Amino acid sequence: MTENKLFQLANENFNYSVSFRRDFHQHPELGFQEIRTSEIIAKELINLNFEVKKNIGKTGVLGVLKGTSDGPTLLLRFDMDALPIHEENTSNFASKNEGIMHACGHDGHMAIGLTIAKILSTFQDQLNGTIKIIFQPAEEGLGGALATIEDGVLENPRPDYCLGLHIWNEKPLGWIGVNSGSMMASADTFEIIVNGKGGHGGLPHQATDPIVCAAQIISTIQTIVSRNISPLDNAVVSFGSIKGGSTFNVIPDSVYLTGTIRTFDPQIRFEIIKHLEKISKSVGDGMGCKIEFSLDEVTPAVINNSKIATDLQHVIQKLFPSFSVDLNFKTMGSEDFSYFLNKVPGCFYFVGSANPDKNLIYGHHHPRFDFDEGVLPIAVASLLCVIEEFGCLAIQSVDS
Ligand SMILES: [Zn+2]
Ligand SMILES: [Zn+2]
Repeated sequence: MTENKLFQLANENFNYSVSFRRDFHQHPELGFQEIRTSEIIAKELINLNFEVKKNIGKTGVLGVLKGTSDGPTLLLRFDMDALPIHEENTSNFASKNEGIMHACGHDGHMAIGLTIAKILSTFQDQLNGTIKIIFQPAEEGLGGALATIEDGVLENPRPDYCLGLHIWNEKPLGWIGVNSGSMMASADTFEIIVNGKGGHGGLPHQATDPIVCAAQIISTIQTIVSRNISPLDNAVVSFGSIKGGSTFNVIPDSVYLTGTIRTFDPQIRFEIIKHLEKISKSVGDGMGCKIEFSLDEVTPAVINNSKIATDLQHVIQKLFPSFSVDLNFKTMGSEDFSYFLNKVPGCFYFVGSANPDKNLIYGHHHPRFDFDEGVLPIAVASLLCVIEEFGCLAIQSVDS
């Protein structure tokens, strides 16, 4: 494979990574409820000589390691929360918390973060600048990134760069995906309330039917992506729920629609929101219904800094020459690491973690999701090599 010393160190710490990963997996906690998880992380970071701040963004933990000489400040982010899913795996480290499961791999992310902290702490005298590691709560659409930012994670000192990663079970071990620009979509949720006038199903002329109006709105909104957005751009508008009425022969007073918007570009996002509101209100107007439209921004698009992404690509290709590195990776999934990237230049990337030979093939958020733990040292080494590339770590990691 490779002669890289940082990869060797990551492999030597494999059991350390796995024991944390499995412990977190057995004891998953939902977003903003990561009490046990954050206590374990804080205790370990203190053991490793980090300055530790607890309760950052409610249940987050910040570890800071200062080097012995000047250099950049680098922020590494790992997410901590599990999902409200009943685990169907029967491994000896399956979830002990009924109805809660680490089904996205954040247990692995925390193990990667702690292993990096452990290795960096042994090189503190060769560290330039400052490493800040944020263990972030509530990534799964609950606002954890923003909560840590509001609690000052980007201040004192302010990071020069930020880095984050996600293990990725859509691809096998030996695959890495990155992009020098927009990589993950923005996610918004919208709600449309169609207010009409209820009545007898047999006497529709005496009512203003919100069901027919809602159907027209849903159909017409399909034209936003096909008619208002350039065919060369990417966007999704999907409805996820329709609620209205209670029985077959009564026209209800109102219908509730919810959905999501995904795009890679803030300008396209703006255009979609504008058309969504305009179309629903115009159709409602034409059919005599009153429309209430509201929008919630869940996450902005993940847009990498092109210079940092290019440096990261070179580091990874040098570290793992036999890997398949997709330099134009994009997904319509979303990630709240985007809030960090909007304030600090940085890069997010994906590390393949599936292994069909071991039947580790189920996707993220599936009740049988599990990943090949061989991804842990790969992810640890890749981040350490980027830290070295940024001039924070002054060890010679590559044998000549
Ligand atoms: Zn997830
Ligand atoms: Zn995730």
